[in-house]
Amino acid sequence: MSIPASQPLPPSSDSAAGGAAGTVTDSLVEANRHYAASFTDPGMDARPVRKVAVVSCMDARIDLHAALGLKLGDCHTIRNAGGVVTDDIIRSLTISQRALGTRSVVLIHHTNCGLLSLTEDFRHDLAAEVGQRPTWAVEAFKDLDEDVRQSMQRVRTSPFLLHTDDVRGFVFDVTTGLLREIDPQH
Ligand SMILES: [Zn+2]
Repeated sequence: MSIPASQPLPPSSDSAAGGAAGTVTDSLVEANRHYAASFTDPGMDARPVRKVAVVSCMDARIDLHAALGLKLGDCHTIRNAGGVVTDDIIRSLTISQRALGTRSVVLIHHTNCGLLSLTEDFRHDLAAEVGQRPTWAVEAFKDLDEDVRQSMQRVRTSPFLLHTDDVRGFVFDVTTGLLREIDPQH
């Protein structure tokens, strides 16, 4: 993500929103018809073939499957703003490991992340605007590497997970496409 939510977005043009025929969602539904027309049942189990869960920022510039050489059925992808390890990420990882057999966790933050430019003021401004304080923290960060380390630590120390020995963290460079591994012991 990279948009300060307190600033209204400019109105989208028809072409940006999905064409004159309808909304962007309409165009997605249309694309799905084409997809399904040539789709064949892969006959897969829900358990990820490569037994890995990837936790990443939701950033639109990261194509996880292409960037990591992953194919359909290989992994779980769990994404949120920042790729931050929140309680809900732990919930998904717990189900991933205990019900669906994954053993490895890969955490991916990235350069130029929207959360680098936010602070907890975002939350305070939001509360002032809507008259209600969100229950969640913004989880903004100033230091990418340090936040990856903190995320690795949250996964490694979770009492709910079965497998915490193979947890690795990276920063994806949105300009080169390369991953840089973060040393948890820095
Ligand atoms: Zn991001």
